[in-house]
Amino acid sequence: AKKGGKNRYAFYNERLQQAAEDYTTLQHALATAIDQHELRLHMQPIIDLRTNQVAGYEALVRWQHPVKGLLGPDNFIGMAEESQLIFKLGYWVFEEACRQIHQYKIDGWVAINLSPRQFNDPQLVKQIISILQAHNISPGQIELEVTESCLIDSIDDAITTLQALCDAGLSISLDDFGTGYSSLALLKRLPVKKLKIDRSFIQDLDMEDRKIVQAMTGLAHTLDMKVVAEGIEETGQLHILNSMHCDFGQGYLFSKPKPMEELLNF
Ligand code: C2E
Ligand code: CA
Ligand code: CA
Ligand code: CA
Repeated sequence: AKKGGKNRYAFYNERLQQAAEDYTTLQHALATAIDQHELRLHMQPIIDLRTNQVAGYEALVRWQHPVKGLLGPDNFIGMAEESQLIFKLGYWVFEEACRQIHQYKIDGWVAINLSPRQFNDPQLVKQIISILQAHNISPGQIELEVTESCLIDSIDDAITTLQALCDAGLSISLDDFGTGYSSLALLKRLPVKKLKIDRSFIQDLDMEDRKIVQAMTGLAHTLDMKVVAEGIEETGQLHILNSMHCDFGQGYLFSKPKPMEELLNF
């Protein structure tokens, strides 16, 4: 063994234990965060690339932590997903989106993310319908973003759920498209209105990426779906996507996710 190896091991061990404690502490804090009004729902505009107008918004949750500051979802969605907290968080997001639609008179759609555990909640459809009714929101204004990982447990159950949501008037988009496992045959069976092309294809948009994006866009259009390109940061990317007849775009080029109030003041 190397000199100091034992100490290093102890050091790692300590660090691991510290990390585990931090995780548990944060998980406990998240449990009370909702009741203490520490969650925020930011909105990121989705642009119609033909008209250059804002067509809708994606709702993205943040946690205004009293000590750590504003935390992005990658810091806490995973831990919520590991516990029952994801349900409470998920329905908070839904209610808050409804509230903002009224408060800011949003007339496009608002897209809401569903994690696999939420999607597989047997109460999902019933709960969503009752929240929409309580807030007097037209289901047509809500789009649900699901990832391919929501669908892999049981594809037949997933299709039943998606169909029930569509029957209730909501629309579905397939998020992070191109990164998962869904076969083209499966895509045909899904009642999905939009494909969201993952940022990883948009980032460099080299020759290979362009061919893939072009193919995905063609496929979507053949199946009567629209495409949204995620993560557009530069005008160069925008021009290429425009030339490929990409329908919608989203990214820092247009705006980062922000509180609705700030988006409207801009
Ligand atoms: P996502 O659904 O793929 O959301 C898009 C992410 O890309 C967002 O990160 C957004 O801020 C970021 N983004 C948008 N445009 C650009 C760009 O031009 N450049 C770069 N570098 N990034 C861009 P965010 O807000 O950190 O969210 C991360 C993930 O957390 C989301 O990925 C989604 O899977 C999850 N998430 C967010 N809000 C919710 C929620 O309310 N419920 C659930 N279940 N998951 C959520
Ligand atoms: Ca999303
Ligand atoms: Ca995405
Ligand atoms: Ca993602």
